[in-house]
Amino acid sequence: MRRFFIEPENIQDSSICIPPEEARHIEKVLRLKTGDIVMFFDGTGQEYQVRLDGKENGVLTGRIMHRDLKDSEPALKLYLAQGIAKGEKMDAIIQKTVEIGVKAVYPVSCERSVVRLEGEKADKRVERWQTIAREACKQCRRNVVPEIKPVMGFPSLLQTIGERPALMLYEDEHRNGLKAWLRTEPYNRLKEMFVLIGPEGGFSDNEVLTAVKQGIDIVSLGPRILRTETAGLAAASMILYEYGDLG
Ligand code: SAH
Repeated sequence: MRRFFIEPENIQDSSICIPPEEARHIEKVLRLKTGDIVMFFDGTGQEYQVRLDGKENGVLTGRIMHRDLKDSEPALKLYLAQGIAKGEKMDAIIQKTVEIGVKAVYPVSCERSVVRLEGEKADKRVERWQTIAREACKQCRRNVVPEIKPVMGFPSLLQTIGERPALMLYEDEHRNGLKAWLRTEPYNRLKEMFVLIGPEGGFSDNEVLTAVKQGIDIVSLGPRILRTETAGLAAASMILYEYGDLG
């Protein structure tokens, strides 16, 4: 059955108002008609089975036949802090890590980030990534849409993390592997965790040092150097697998 996203404010009691863009898609592209049943999710975990009702003052409306609190969320809240990578790579990272199950993405402007995103341009890009996250949820049947945080610099990221558990993936770390780390107390039973991935050029020495100073663990993903768009996906998969959510 077709699934669509609906903002919670477009739902009132048992009726929903479908915004023009989705309505056009439903009517013109999919050729769905009054009486057809479609699914909506509102990004908070609620899912609705809706019967299309036709237009009221030019607005397509629907009647909620059934609602369900569907939760396919991992127990571990995994936050991906991703060094900003070039255009399409970043899109792919967001799309795929949302499918795998990250709870939020923090796009981080690192010392070696090739792309500089600031001001309005940064806000626009975050909006776009948020749309990608929403589309990914539609596709993978995830009802809670992960949040894409505003672009921040590395120092602000460290501030945001504060005392919370975090690991930095670093290709020059050769002893401390992710598997062993995940099987050590208390890292095997966390409620939330930040995972830091560098941009194409990796983290600078300074970034590694300040992370270590803050008590962030430096961890390896194994003997091969992965591209930035591979590393987050691989790490998120391994972490959620260890936590019993994947596989
Ligand atoms: N430019 C660097 C590699 C950066 S890879 C170089 O050529 O040496 C991009 C990011 O992926 C890194 O910052 C790190 O966070 C992660 N990464 C890639 N391979 C890794 C590995 N084997 N172990 C840990 N992290 C890795």
